[in-house]
Amino acid sequence: MNPNLKCSCAAHTAMQPVALAEALLAVQCADCEGMVMAMDDWRAWKAGDTARLPHAVDDELIEVFDTTAVRHCPACDRLMQRLRVSAGPDFRIDRCVACQNLWFDPGEWRAIVSRGLAGRLDELLSDGWQRRLQTEEVREVRLAALRRRYGNECIDELDRIRAWLDTQPHRDELLALLRAD
Ligand SMILES: [Zn+2]
Repeated sequence: MNPNLKCSCAAHTAMQPVALAEALLAVQCADCEGMVMAMDDWRAWKAGDTARLPHAVDDELIEVFDTTAVRHCPACDRLMQRLRVSAGPDFRIDRCVACQNLWFDPGEWRAIVSRGLAGRLDELLSDGWQRRLQTEEVREVRLAALRRRYGNECIDELDRIRAWLDTQPHRDELLALLRAD
């Protein structure tokens, strides 16, 4: 990681080295507390001793301060891509495609570690992962709209009936029966 990076936040201060994990360094802005990590450093770290990959922990107390504004890469000033970490109203991490730098807002790296994703960043950043999350997100939005429209009790009952129907060997005939006058 370039040790002379200046943060792209308003303070524009020089970023300082910070340890993300054993043998994994990033740089951090003392002002906005954002961190920049080079994917190359992460790859070298992952390829090393697997025993030092942090384990997932149940840490509900992590506060993530995700900035929704687009961010400029501190190294090259290009706009960074915002990538989903999971489906739903969650945070996103920023990536500079040109420099292969990741930006973590305060709490984001810790949240990634706690979910057991610290060693899986390459998967998380892949098109497949991102597409899957997008599909999940669309489905969740649709389901939330249905629940608002018909009420939770109705949708729960529908789910129960659907689950039961799926166990029936004559599922399609039963469905046709239901629809018949
Ligand atoms: Zn860049």
